[in-house]
Amino acid sequence: MTGRLVDVALPLPLFRAFTYAVPDGLRHAVMPGARVVVPFRNRTAMGIVLGESSGESLGAAEAKAIIDSPDEQPAFRPDLLAVGRWMADYYISPVGLVLRAALPAAMGRARRADPPLRTQRVLRLSQRLDSLMQRDALFRRAPQQRALYELLESLGGQSTVAHLVERLGCTASVVQGLVKRGVAEVAQEPVDRDPFLTRAAPPPAAVTFSDAQRRAIAALRRGAPGATFLLHGITGSGKTLVYIEFLRHVLHDRGQSAIVLVPEIALTPQTVDRFRAVFGDLVAVLHSGLSDGERYDAWRALQRGDKRIAIGARSAVFAPLANLGAIVVDEEHEATYKQGEAPRYHAREVAIVRAREAGAVVVLGSATPSLESWANAQSGKYTLLSLPARVGGGALPGVRIVDLRTETGQGAPAAVQALRRILSVPLEAALHDRLARGEQSLLLLNRRGFANFVTCPDGHVVTCPNCAISLTYHRAPERLICHYCQHAEPLGTTCRECGAERMNQRGIGTQQVERLLIERFPSARVARMDVDTTTGKWAHAEILDRVGSGEVDILLGTQMIAKGLDFPNVTLVGVIDADIGINLPDFRASERTFQLLSQVAGRAGRGPKGGEVFIQTRTPGHHAVVCAIEHDYLRFVGEELPARESPPYPPTLRLANVVISGLDELAVAACAQQAADWLAPRIETLGGDVTLVGPSPCPIERIKGRWRWHLVLKAVQSRPMTQLMRAFLTRFELPAAHDMRVTVDRDPVALL
Ligand code: ADP
Ligand code: ZN
Repeated sequence: MTGRLVDVALPLPLFRAFTYAVPDGLRHAVMPGARVVVPFRNRTAMGIVLGESSGESLGAAEAKAIIDSPDEQPAFRPDLLAVGRWMADYYISPVGLVLRAALPAAMGRARRADPPLRTQRVLRLSQRLDSLMQRDALFRRAPQQRALYELLESLGGQSTVAHLVERLGCTASVVQGLVKRGVAEVAQEPVDRDPFLTRAAPPPAAVTFSDAQRRAIAALRRGAPGATFLLHGITGSGKTLVYIEFLRHVLHDRGQSAIVLVPEIALTPQTVDRFRAVFGDLVAVLHSGLSDGERYDAWRALQRGDKRIAIGARSAVFAPLANLGAIVVDEEHEATYKQGEAPRYHAREVAIVRAREAGAVVVLGSATPSLESWANAQSGKYTLLSLPARVGGGALPGVRIVDLRTETGQGAPAAVQALRRILSVPLEAALHDRLARGEQSLLLLNRRGFANFVTCPDGHVVTCPNCAISLTYHRAPERLICHYCQHAEPLGTTCRECGAERMNQRGIGTQQVERLLIERFPSARVARMDVDTTTGKWAHAEILDRVGSGEVDILLGTQMIAKGLDFPNVTLVGVIDADIGINLPDFRASERTFQLLSQVAGRAGRGPKGGEVFIQTRTPGHHAVVCAIEHDYLRFVGEELPARESPPYPPTLRLANVVISGLDELAVAACAQQAADWLAPRIETLGGDVTLVGPSPCPIERIKGRWRWHLVLKAVQSRPMTQLMRAFLTRFELPAAHDMRVTVDRDPVALL
C-alpha cells in the first residue's frame, strides 16, 4: 500500500464523506469521479471518489482499502462532479445521495449492470379444455395449475410468465407443471420495442428563417461559454427551429455535444421527432419507459460519444456527455423540472451550473417564462432573445370569453343549467361547426374523475381517511379516489357524518365532460387524455398519434393536452373551466393559470385554417385570464411582479420550505414550534437577510396519514440561507416518537 487516501461519497443520509486507502493495483483507476466498491459495515457499497483525502480524520493505518474500481472511465467527469457538489451544498442534500440520483439505477449497484433484457418469456395455451369434466380430471391434484390455466384463458390465451407469476403469487414450478401436462408452451418473444426508435421521423422542411429567428441564432452562436439566454417566443413562433439550428452548429461545426430538456417526454413526442429527424442516430432519447438495461446502454453510448445529443426530462441534465456545447431547456417555466423528492433540485438551475462548469451555452425557451427567469433577463444576468410573431405571419387565434355567470341558462330547467355549466351555447355551436367541417377541437378541463367531490345536503364532504383532501368520484370503475394517496372506497349512499340518505356529486371532471360530449355529439370521435387513460407505457403517444392522423375529432384532457402539440387541423380550443387552480393557496396560482391558458390557447390555429379559442370562466376580470386572452405576457408580468413584492415572494427573494411531518398532530405542531425557536436566535446572529414565516399548518394539513406543519424562510442572499439550513438539518434534533421527519425544499415550486 502506498498510503494514498481518498474521500469517497456513499449513498447514505449523512453529511460526510468516508476515507479509504487506495491499493497499488487500483492506483490508476481510482480518480475523482470514479465508482469504487468499498467495504462498509460488514458489507460492500458502491461509492464515488470525491478526491484525495487530507487523511486528517483517519490515518492510513486505520483506513480500509478499496475493493474494486469497475469502470475504465470515471462515471463522473469533472464538470458533473462539480455539479453534484454544488447540488449537495445548495439543496442541502448528502453528496452521496445526490451523485447516486445522477446515475442510472443499474450503476448504483455494487455489481455490474445486468445485460439489458431483450426478450421475455411468454406462456401460450396449446390445448383448450372446453368441458368442465376435462378440467376436473386433468387438474385434480393441481389447483394452482388450474388457476394458472384459467387466468391464461381469461387473458386471451397468452401472457408473459412474469405477469402470470405475479398475478397468482405462484412459483415458476407451477408454470413448468402446466407445460409438462402439454396444455401450454413457453416461448421467447421480444419485449416491447422502444417506440422512439421506430417512430418515423419526418424529414425537416426547408425553411427560410424569419429575421427574429436569424438574430436569435446568431446571438446563440456568439454566446460566451457559460452564458444563459432566455428565448421568449409566443407559441408557434419557431423556437424549436432555433434550438435545432443552434445545435446543428454546436454538433457539426464545433464537434461538440448537447442536452435538450423537455418537461415530460411522453407529452412531447412531436418535439423529440423533430430533433431525431435532423440528428438521427446521434440522439439518445432518455424516457421513463426504458428498462434499467436500456437506460444503462444509452448512458454508455453518451459517455463513449456514440450519441451526442441527450433528450429527456429533468434527469437528462446529468447525461455523461464530454465536450458539452449547449443545454436547451424547453418550456423552462414548467413545474416538472423540479424534483419532488430529495434531492429536490430544479433542472433549470442545475443546467445553468453545469453549463458554467462545462463552458456550454444555455437556452431557456418559453412563451410564458417563469417570473424568476424574466427577472434575471431584466437584470442582465441572462440575455433576452425574442420571437415576437408567429412564423409566416400566422395570427394568434382570437380568444372569446364565455362568462359562466350569465351563460348558464338562468331560469331554465336544472338539467339544462347543469349542461350549460360544462358546455355553453357558444362553445357547443363552435364544436358543431368543427365537426361539420371535418376540423379538430381540443377541450381542456384540468381535473380528472367524474365529479370533484361528494357531499350530503348538509354540506358534509367525503374526505380521505389519510389526507386532508376530499375524495374524487370516478366512474368506470365506480369509486371514490384520493388523488394524493390513491386510497379508494365505494361510493356510499348515506352520509357518514349525519346519516343523510342523499349524496350529491359536485364539480365536474373529465369523465363527466366525456360522457356529455358523447351524448351531445353521437357521431364524433372523442378521445380523453388524463392520468387515468394514460397508465399504459405508450398511451400518450398513441392518443396523440391518433389525433395527428385525423382519427379523433375532439381531444378532451387535463393539462397534458396543453403542451407542445402542433396539429394544423386543430382550429378550436375550448377551456371548460378556467378558474380551476386560480384560487389555490399558493403564490404561483395566478402564474400557473396564465401559463396554462396561454399554452392551451396556442394549440389552436397552427395551420393555414386559423383558429379560435373559447374560455369559460366566472372570473373574466382576473389578470391571469385577461392577459391570456390578449396573449399579453408583458402585461401579465407587469401586474404580477409588483404583487410578488409585498408580501415578498420569488423572484423578489428566495424561499426555503421547511416541512415537519409526523403521525401525531400535536407533536408535529410542537416540533414545528421548537424548530422555529431553534432558528430564531441563529437568524439573529447570522447577520444575513433571512426572515422566518410561521410555523403554521401546511395548506394540505395531512397527506398519507402524516400531519404537516411548515416554516418558510425568505432571503435575498443565497449563502446565509445555505448555512442556516445546513446547520438546522445537521444539528436540530427531532423527537424520536411519532415517526417525525423534516424536509427542506429550496426554491419550492409550490408551498402546498
Ligand atoms: P414553437 O417551438 O415556438 O412553438 P415551432 O418551432 O414549433 O414553434 O414552429 C411552429 C411551426 O412553424 C412548426 O411547424 C415549424 O416547422 C414552422 N416554422 C418554424 N419556423 C419557420 C420558418 N422560418 N419558416 C416556415 N416555417 C417555420
Ligand atoms: Zn389520501
